[in-house]
This record gives sequence, C-alpha cells and structure tokens, in this order.
Amino acid sequence: MSVKEKLQEFKSNIPDSVTLVAVSKTKPAEMIQDAYQSGHLDYGENKAQEMQAKAKELPKDIRWHFIGHLQRNKVKYIAPHVHLIHSVDSLRLLREINKRAGNEERVIDVLLQVYIAKEESKYGLDEEEVIEIMESDDFKSFENVKVIGLMGMATNTDNMETVRREFKSLKTFFDKIKQQYDFSILSMGMTNDYEIAVEEGSTMLRVGSAIFGARS
Ligand SMILES: *Cc1c(COP(=O)(O)O)cnc(C)c1O
Repeated sequence: MSVKEKLQEFKSNIPDSVTLVAVSKTKPAEMIQDAYQSGHLDYGENKAQEMQAKAKELPKDIRWHFIGHLQRNKVKYIAPHVHLIHSVDSLRLLREINKRAGNEERVIDVLLQVYIAKEESKYGLDEEEVIEIMESDDFKSFENVKVIGLMGMATNTDNMETVRREFKSLKTFFDKIKQQYDFSILSMGMTNDYEIAVEEGSTMLRVGSAIFGARS
C-alpha cells in the first residue's frame, strides 16, 4: 500500500472529530509530498532543524506540529513555521516561545505536556504545575503564545489496562480545567495505543509508523 492509501485507510477508521497528525519524523520530504497529494495537511516532527528544513522545502499550507522535547535554544528554528507545539513542559520554554513568536509577529498555539506514564524518562508536568503555569502572572503577560490544550504519552507497554488508566486520568484532568482555560485540544494516542486514546476522549492523534512505516 502507498503512503497515500495507508493515510486514507487510517483516517477512515477514526471519527471525523479526531484530528490526525501524521508523524513524519526521520522520513524524507518526498514521502510527505506524496501524502500531501491526498489532501492531508497535518504533519508531526520532533527535531527543530528537521522541521525547519522540511517546512522550507514543502508546500506552505502544511500545518507543522512539533511533538518532541524542545530545547529553548531551538525554538528560533521552528517559530516561523510551526502550527502547534505539543510538548511544552516549563514556563521558561513558554517564555522563549512567546519571545520568538513576537519576533515573527505571530501567536503560536501550544499544548502543555502532562506526565502520565510510569517511565522515568518521559518529560512533562504534573497537574499542579499545569495550574501553576496557567495562573502565573508571568504567563498571563505573554501576548504571543496561547495554550489551547494538553498532551500526554502513555507508558510504552503491552498492558492496555495501564494505558487506558493513564489516558483516563489525563482526560479527567482535561475536563476539569478546559472551560476555565478555554482548552480545546487533548493530544493523546500513537500507533500502538490510538484506539484506546480515541475511546478515552482524545481529540488529536500523533501517528507515525502505522502511516509511514517503521523508522530505522
Ligand atoms: C514518534 C512519536 C509519535 C509517533 O509514534 P508512532 O509509534 O510511530 O506512531 C507520537 N508522539 C510522539 C511524541 C513521538 O515522538
């Protein structure tokens, strides 16, 4: 099956209300161009310079999603191009995004990444830290960055009950605060756990290998 066909088949199996971010990290621009021909506009990258290079080369109406851990000194590479940053995990990073977005005379939408997995290595905030950021005077003064929701990654495990429990806890937190902060996006679910994520209320999936094939 071609990338285009895989993309179309994948989309036919998820509700229309759920946005699919096709994760194209490590894959060549030609593959994205091919997928783009089917009319799909949302692509995910996790390296700043790779996103920058692809954004310069590929059609301007592509919506680039930054999904990986983002270092402050790399924000400048993506600021002109990025549609949504899923992985904001500190106030300092938010401050840098605000500054670089200001330089570009734009507002950048972001999600706060919440730590829900059991693995030590995963990045993210806890619930208290999310509230702390949203309530800080510093954040309230930022005019060029807007937090529009939350993102989470479940534990990488075959135990789907663990995964479901983690997604459920994030959805519960999201529902608790979404009105107050005008949140509209809950980004959760990847190739191995997207079905559970959809069942548990995800509004945005980040799916790579199921569409573009395994990464080497
Ligand atoms: C790579 C990546 C994905 C996609 O992973 P697949 O298993 O290929 O679907 C999703 N989210 C994040 C944060 C990633 O780094």
